Amino acid sequence: MDTLSSSKICFFNGVSALNMRISLDEAAKRLKRGEVVAIPTETVYGLAADASNDQAIQLIFTTKQRPADHPLIVHIADISQVNDWAESFPAVAVKLAKAFWPGALTLVLPAKSHVSRIVRGNEPTIALRVPNHPIALALLKLSGLSVAAPSANLFTQLSPTTAEHVEAGLGEAVPVLDGGACAVGIESTIVSVNADGQWQLLRPGVISEADIMRVAGQAQQASSLTSSDNVDLQTPKVPGQHALHYSPRTPLFLFKDKASLMKECEALTHANLRCAALIIGDGNAPTCAVIRLSSEPIEAAEHLYSCLHQLDALNVDRLLVELPQNTPAWTAVLDRLSRAGFRGT
Ligand code: AMP
Ligand code: MG
Repeated sequence: MDTLSSSKICFFNGVSALNMRISLDEAAKRLKRGEVVAIPTETVYGLAADASNDQAIQLIFTTKQRPADHPLIVHIADISQVNDWAESFPAVAVKLAKAFWPGALTLVLPAKSHVSRIVRGNEPTIALRVPNHPIALALLKLSGLSVAAPSANLFTQLSPTTAEHVEAGLGEAVPVLDGGACAVGIESTIVSVNADGQWQLLRPGVISEADIMRVAGQAQQASSLTSSDNVDLQTPKVPGQHALHYSPRTPLFLFKDKASLMKECEALTHANLRCAALIIGDGNAPTCAVIRLSSEPIEAAEHLYSCLHQLDALNVDRLLVELPQNTPAWTAVLDRLSRAGFRGT
């Protein structure tokens, strides 16, 4: 039994009998052999492979059916490894790394020329993060590798925050190192820092733009994201920011308030269509199956994908989702929801 694994599974040669849950040792061995392994991080489960092995990286793209121009985040064990991948590590980026690593912040930095074009999706930059999860960190140390690890799901689908979500999305042939449910629950905040030390927010996350500004000062490049962009379902402005992403299989529609959502629920019921709803906090609820998401944004982020997975499993015709308020505290959740579906009313 692997003491670091939270599930009660018996391993034979590091592999469980029931499904492909594997031990920490086995995960390290497989990564070193150039295989892919799903691993827990504090954000979402990642599909990991040796970041210095192009064939292993290629396996990530084929397993996820991810387009080649969507670069991967490389997970490193500590800040000292940045210089293995980045050509420059400007003072602002050092400050951010020291403030938020290990943690849910990815830094996009100018790449060293030897860094594989496959891992960086042909960009001149490399994305790096030190994850804040004891099992992920133990795996990086034990294997001695840096691992590329995008979310362990098929491209554009809902991100996994438990081992079960990974198995439901990718099938049981993908080995999973089980680390329990992810504590942050949504993907990392991404900040790019150029060689001159100018920074830009590329993807909102639980570490907010205000948190970044407190450490890095005012952004010298205009942010590519504004809160109003988040709900407009516009074309992507940075690589990998597809308009429809993070989406369940069930068509999902977004509503600005409970009243309009409830009206749609009634209309669908009238038309003999089945729906289920995700609503924020307390208050009136529609007559269909309902999951309530916390009205506190950090807690809502933690449970967002899990709730959407549960609603998707109901196999109804439509999912109806209440949008939270358009305030800075909700930016990251709004971003993920706006890419998960279409505007209802
Ligand atoms: P994920 O989809 O969660 O794996 O995050 C990867 C995202 O990080 C990409 O879709 C890009 O938006 C961003 N990213 C990763 N690597 C780079 C890079 N080298 N240059 C610019 N953005 C990157
Ligand atoms: Mg993803």
